[in-house]
Amino acid sequence: MKYVSTRDTSKTFEFKEVFVKGLADDGGLFIPKSLIKFSEDEIKDFKKLNYSDLAKKVIYPFIGNFMSESDLSKIIDKSYSAFRKDNVVELIQIGDRSVLELFHGPTLAFKDIAMQLLGNFYEYYLSNDKQKINIVVATSGDTGAAAIDAIKGKKNLNIFVLHPDNRVSPIQRKLMTTGKFENVFNIAIKGNFDDCQNLVKSMFSDKNFSNQINMSGVNSINWARIIAQSVYYFYSYFLVKHENQPTNFSVPTGNFGDVYAGYLAKKLGLPINKLIVATNQNDILHRAISKGSYQAEKVSETISPSMDIQIASNFERLIFDLNNEDDVKTSQDMKNIKEVGNYLLDNEKLNKINENFLSVRMSEKETLEIISSVYNQYNFVLDPHTAIGYGAFDKHNLIGNNIVLGTAHPSKFPDAIFRAIKANADLPSELMFILDENENYDVIENDVEKVKQHIKDKLL
Ligand SMILES: *Cc1c(COP(=O)(O)O)cnc(C)c1O
Repeated sequence: MKYVSTRDTSKTFEFKEVFVKGLADDGGLFIPKSLIKFSEDEIKDFKKLNYSDLAKKVIYPFIGNFMSESDLSKIIDKSYSAFRKDNVVELIQIGDRSVLELFHGPTLAFKDIAMQLLGNFYEYYLSNDKQKINIVVATSGDTGAAAIDAIKGKKNLNIFVLHPDNRVSPIQRKLMTTGKFENVFNIAIKGNFDDCQNLVKSMFSDKNFSNQINMSGVNSINWARIIAQSVYYFYSYFLVKHENQPTNFSVPTGNFGDVYAGYLAKKLGLPINKLIVATNQNDILHRAISKGSYQAEKVSETISPSMDIQIASNFERLIFDLNNEDDVKTSQDMKNIKEVGNYLLDNEKLNKINENFLSVRMSEKETLEIISSVYNQYNFVLDPHTAIGYGAFDKHNLIGNNIVLGTAHPSKFPDAIFRAIKANADLPSELMFILDENENYDVIENDVEKVKQHIKDKLL
């Protein structure tokens, strides 16, 4: 499989470049030049597989000549041995819908599922290619911890993580800052997540700087993360009984990465009916999908901080589809979004979106109410992100099998949980120790030159 950029389809790239670069040099996102589709028979056979073997079948067609099937197989087995469940994820029935728990990895959010694999991809890549790579990544809270856990202690790799100062939960921060590894650097930026993301983007586009430090990215735009995430849509699809009923997913959404992975699974042949894009009050995607206006507003802080995002980077991949894969149109749209701050979707585009996606916005009050009512009725604690996905099904009457992606463990957000149910959500016992560990991070202003200097100083 070959890849192109959403802003220039004339040049092709191999998977290896796509995964190490993250973002194309022209600012566009990588996308397969042409996608495969699994046949109905192939998909039927997937049903018999355990999680790791299914991941091998889904991921292998995407990696081209990066590694052999047997190397991929070893890497996938190794990556998923870091999880507390044999089959990585678990599907739990709660009331009339199912919750797909994706948070049984080392840092308690779904991001571990793709990131553990990526960490091992880097290791493999560097074992053949003698060079040093510096990963720089922005996080709204969960990506950072997952990336650190996947990269810590690996040879010839450093990782710099930018998080918004005071805007991640203390547990989220401790999961990033308490490790003692020489190749891990945490930076708290005086700003919000979009500021962190913009800093990383501008460091990437400064070719002088990014080449000098051999910079690489693991943001949710990284295609390798998207394919790894599409696997659990397949896996969970087979865990529910069908009886000719449609299957819908509700996905707590920020950067449009996880829900895009569901859309990819559908394009690969999985018969998904609708994907609900569930947002908190930072609802740019809800406004885009329900009203046709993609227009950034100010980011507000919520109890679901991993979704406090106004610029959903992966949305560019959907815009590319809506433009019938026209790179010139997509570049123009992205330029407008950057310069004018707005992108309007006409009815034709909205109808096309609504074939696959619906959307919902949840207020803070509604989110707390869902956590409390699910706890009271079923004695089950949803984290605030998952609660948004859970509640979204109440706003759209979809018959069939309704699956909510459970994106984080409730213990990552103890304050919100306490507000909702007046009880504590404890960390899994293996992680209790982080509560007493010293934290290590530097606070830096929202100024790209200062951040670059800081990174260079650390690398001396
Ligand atoms: C990252 C994250 C999300 C949002 O996922 P996107 O891929 O950015 O849409 C939702 N919930 C949790 C807990 C997260 O960490």
